[in-house]
Amino acid sequence: MFGIGLGNLVKIGFRVSDHILKQQEIERSRTASERARLEAEASRERAEYESRRYRRTQLEDEIARDSVAVECPNCGATGNRIRRGSTGFCEFCGTAIQISSSGIAYIADPIEKAKALAAEDIKRKS
Ligand SMILES: [Zn+2]
Repeated sequence: MFGIGLGNLVKIGFRVSDHILKQQEIERSRTASERARLEAEASRERAEYESRRYRRTQLEDEIARDSVAVECPNCGATGNRIRRGSTGFCEFCGTAIQISSSGIAYIADPIEKAKALAAEDIKRKS
């Protein structure tokens, strides 16, 4: 009737609870390492985002420094700022305005206009 014996029952009981504890421990360490992995990934992404934003800000500063206020050679509007040595578009009449490296504005030739349009297109898509 008491074939198993009390001592054995207690031993089995310990073994079962041992097993459960071990399982819980494995589960906990798995969640912890998963959490650590996700945190590392998030911090990597944050760092990448920050450096990308920093590079973009630098580029914007550079453009702002190099840009000049120009009077549109077509409509006479004065609100445009365009980078030296590049081609931009009048905000008012859409004329392609080319700026020489010394800051002189003139109506862009068709090739410069096409290049500037393509660049704007790429900027819009990115
Ligand atoms: Zn204009």
